[in-house]
Amino acid sequence: MAQNTPMMKQYLEIKAQHKDAFLFFRLGDFYEMFFEDAVLAAQELEITLTGRGQGEERIPMCGVPYHSADQYMSRLIEKGYKIALCEQVEDPKQAKGVVKREVVKVLTPGTMMYGNTIKEKENNYLVALTKFSEQSYGIARTDLTTGECAVTLIQGDLDEVIQDIASSGTKELVVETELDPNVLKRIQEKCPVTVSYENETELHEDYHHLVKSLQSDQLVTSFARLLQYLTRTQKRALGHLQQVKHYQNSAFMKMDTHTKRNLELTESLREKKKAGSLLAIVDQTVTAMGGRLVKNWIERPLINQQEIENRLTLVTAFKDAFFEREELRDELRHVYDLERLAGRIAYGSVNARELVQLKRSLQKTPLLKEYINKIAPTFVDRWFSTEHQVDELIDLLERSLVEDPPISVTDGGMIRPGYHQELDTYRDASMNGKQWIAELEQKEKVETGVRSLKIGFNKVFGYYIEVTRANLHLLPEGRYERKQTLTNAERFITPELKEKEALILNAEEKMEQLEYELFVVVREEAKLYLEYIQQLAHAISEIDVLAGFAAVSEKRHYVRPTFSVKRNIDIVDGRHPVVETVIEKGQYVANDVQMHEGREMLLITGPNMAGKSTYMRQLALLAIMAQIGCYVPARSVELPIFDQVFTRIGAADDLASGQSTFMVEMLETKYALTKATENSLILLDEIGRGTSTYDGMALAQAIIEYIHDVVRAKTLFSTHYHELTQLDETLKDLQNVHVSAVEENGTVVFLHKVVDGQADRSYGIYVAELAQLPSQVTERAETLLKQFEESTTTLQVQQTDVKEEQQLSLFMDEPETAVLVKERKSTVDVSEQEEKVLKKLVRKDVLNMTPIEAIQFINELQRLLK
Ligand code: ADP
Repeated sequence: MAQNTPMMKQYLEIKAQHKDAFLFFRLGDFYEMFFEDAVLAAQELEITLTGRGQGEERIPMCGVPYHSADQYMSRLIEKGYKIALCEQVEDPKQAKGVVKREVVKVLTPGTMMYGNTIKEKENNYLVALTKFSEQSYGIARTDLTTGECAVTLIQGDLDEVIQDIASSGTKELVVETELDPNVLKRIQEKCPVTVSYENETELHEDYHHLVKSLQSDQLVTSFARLLQYLTRTQKRALGHLQQVKHYQNSAFMKMDTHTKRNLELTESLREKKKAGSLLAIVDQTVTAMGGRLVKNWIERPLINQQEIENRLTLVTAFKDAFFEREELRDELRHVYDLERLAGRIAYGSVNARELVQLKRSLQKTPLLKEYINKIAPTFVDRWFSTEHQVDELIDLLERSLVEDPPISVTDGGMIRPGYHQELDTYRDASMNGKQWIAELEQKEKVETGVRSLKIGFNKVFGYYIEVTRANLHLLPEGRYERKQTLTNAERFITPELKEKEALILNAEEKMEQLEYELFVVVREEAKLYLEYIQQLAHAISEIDVLAGFAAVSEKRHYVRPTFSVKRNIDIVDGRHPVVETVIEKGQYVANDVQMHEGREMLLITGPNMAGKSTYMRQLALLAIMAQIGCYVPARSVELPIFDQVFTRIGAADDLASGQSTFMVEMLETKYALTKATENSLILLDEIGRGTSTYDGMALAQAIIEYIHDVVRAKTLFSTHYHELTQLDETLKDLQNVHVSAVEENGTVVFLHKVVDGQADRSYGIYVAELAQLPSQVTERAETLLKQFEESTTTLQVQQTDVKEEQQLSLFMDEPETAVLVKERKSTVDVSEQEEKVLKKLVRKDVLNMTPIEAIQFINELQRLLK
C-alpha cells in the first residue's frame, strides 16, 4: 500500500500545497518525484521513470541525484516550470517516525538567481499585476539577481499593460487568483510567460523603507503583491532589494511589441538573435551591467529633451576624449558584475573568490573617478558620491581573504595567514605535522635503503608508507604494520604515523570549520555595504553604456542629433545603422528625409527590393537612437521628439499567431490610428496587400486620408498601388517620393536613392526575372501587363468612387467581379424603389443580426420590391 505509508502521506500533504510546481522530495541522496510529476519530469528531463510499491498500488516515480540536481532544475525552469524544493529539516538519526520535511524554497523562472536561464546581459524580471478598476492597473517588477525594483500605474487599456509586461526580460507574471481569465488570456497570447498567483497584498513592515518614495497606496499595493510572492517562495531575507522606483510610461517613447520586433531593436526578426539588431550595433559595453542597461534604454527611449541632451552631452565628452575613454573602458573590462554580486551577497550565496573579485572591482573606484574627472568633471559627484564609505570593506577583504581562494567555502584555503590567531595555531599544527611526515619519509628511506619509499595520503586509509613490491625484501621484519595490498606495492602504517595523522586531521577539520565561520562573518559584513555596491554598479553601467555610444559614434561617423521645436524632420544623408554594416563597405546609399508642413506624410513608391522598407525603418531607428541619447548615422539630423512609434512592416511573423495576416495588419493599423498623436511616427508598409486589389486600395486610401486629416502624425506609407500617388493633388500635406531604379540593357538597377515624385512603374516582372522564374512565366506576365495597362482607364478608381467601392467590395473578392458589378451598376437602369432596397441592403450590419432578424429583413426587402 505504497500510497498509505506515512512518508507518502507526508508527500501528498506537501504536494497539495504546491500543485503548480514539481515537488522535489528529498530522500537521502536523491530528490524524488511521484505520480504525474514523475511522469512529466521523466519526459521533460529524459530520465528513467520507475515505480514505488507493488502491483496495482505501484506509483510512478523518478529521481535526480542531489549533487547534480542543479542542472535538472535549470532545465525545468528554462521550460517555464516551477519547482518546490522539499528538504529533510531534521537529522534522520534523531527522527522519531518519518523524517520531518519542509519546502525550503520555490524555484520559478522569475526568481532564479543562477543557472542557464540567467543571461549575463539580460535582466530576469518577475512582474506582478494588480487590477484596480476597468482602466487602472498597477505593475510591479523586480530582478532578483540585481535587486532592482520598480512600479507603475497604468490608466488605460489592456494593450498598454501588455506592452509593459512584455518588455524584454520578463520571465514570470504574478496575479491574484480572481483576475478575469480573459485578461490573463490576452496577456498570455502576447507574452507567454509562466503565471503564478498571489492574493496577499499586505506590506510587511521589514520592507517599509523600500517604498518610502511611493506616493500612492495603489503603488504600494502593487509592490506588496510582488513582495508577498517573493517572501512565500524564497523563504529568506531579501536584503538586497533596492528602493522601489516609480516609473511612468509616459516618460518614455511608446512602442508596442510588434513595433519593437519589426524594427529589430534587440533581436533580428528571422533568427531571433542579437546579431542583426540595433542593439548589436549600439551595445559596445564591456560589462554585463552595462549590457543590461543599454538593452533597457533601447526598449524605452526618452521623451524629455533635457534628459536626452544630458546623455548626448556625455557621449560628446566621451567621444572627444579618445585616449581616456579607451583606457577607462579597459579598466571597466575588469570590473565584476557588481549588481548580481550584490544579490548573491544578500542571499548568502557568494563565495570567497567572488568577494575577492568584489574587492578588486571596488579598488578600481578611485581610478574610474579620476578618468571621469578628466572626461566629464561635472558628473563626478553624481556617480561617485559615497566612495569613502567602502574603504573599510576593501580593507577587511584585503586582510581576511587570500588572493586566489577556492570556489568551495567549506574546504578551507580562503583565509589569509595572520588574520586570526586561533586559525594560525591550527595551521601551524597541521604544517608541523606535515613537516614531521616529510622528515619521516626521508629518515625511513635512509634507514631501510628503499629509495622509492614514499608517504602518501588518501581519505580512506589516511597516511601510509608505500613500498613497491620489488623492494619489500629490504624491509626489516615487523618494522611497519601492513595496511593495504596493491598490485605493485604494499602500504603500511606505524603507530607514530597514526598519531601525527590524528593531530593533522584534527587541526585541519578545525581549520576548515573555523575558516568557514570567519568567512561567514566577512560575508555578513559585506551585506552592510550593499547599497553602496549597488550605487557604484549603477554608475558603472551608465558610464559603460555612454562610453560605448561614443565609441560606436566615432567608429561609424555618427553625428549628434538636434531636436526641432517645430516638429520638422531634416535628415541629410541618413543611413540604416544595421544595413550599412552588412552590405559591402561604401555601397550603402545614404538618403535624405525631409518632412515638415506641406510634406507631413510621404507616400513611397518604387520597385520591390528598391529599399522602401529600409528607408522607412531607417527613419524610426534614427529617431530611437537619438532619443536613447546616442549619435546617429547621417551627415546632419534634426528630428522632433516622438512620443510613440507605430509600424506595420512585413508579415513573416504573423503566421504563428493564429490570426490571418490581413487581420493582424488591420489590428495593428487600428492601433496606430487610434493611439497616434501628431507627435507620433507611423510607418505603414504596403497596407492593403492582403485583400483584393480594390478592397486593399480603398482601405489604403481611406487610411491615408484619415491620418492626413485627423491623426496628423508624421507618416511614411509605402505602396505598390500607383493609383494612390494621385492623392497628392487633394491632400496638401502628402508628398510622393519614390526609390529610383534605372533600366540598363534590359535589366533593372536599383539605385536605392529616394527622391521626390512617383515611380513610373513597379518593375515586379524584373524582380521575377532576377529571381529566375521560368522565362515562359515572365514573358507571359509582360504580355498581360501590356493588356492591363491598356485597359487601366476602365480600372482606375477615382477618389470619390472609392468609398462606394469599399462598401461594394464587402460582397466580392476578385477585382474582375468588382469591375463587372461596378460597370453594371453604371449601365443598368435601377428604379428608385430598387435603389432604396439596395441601399438598405448595403448599410445593414449583417454580421450582427440574429437569423430571425435576417429573415425578417429579407422579407421586408422583398415586400418593398413587390
Ligand atoms: P523594398 O522594401 O523596396 O522591397 P528593401 O528595403 O527590403 O526593399 O531593400 C531590399 C534590399 O536592398 C535590402 O536588403 C538592402 O540590401 C538593399 N538596400 C536597401 N536600401 C539600401 C540603400 N540605401 N543602400 C544600399 N542598399 C540598400
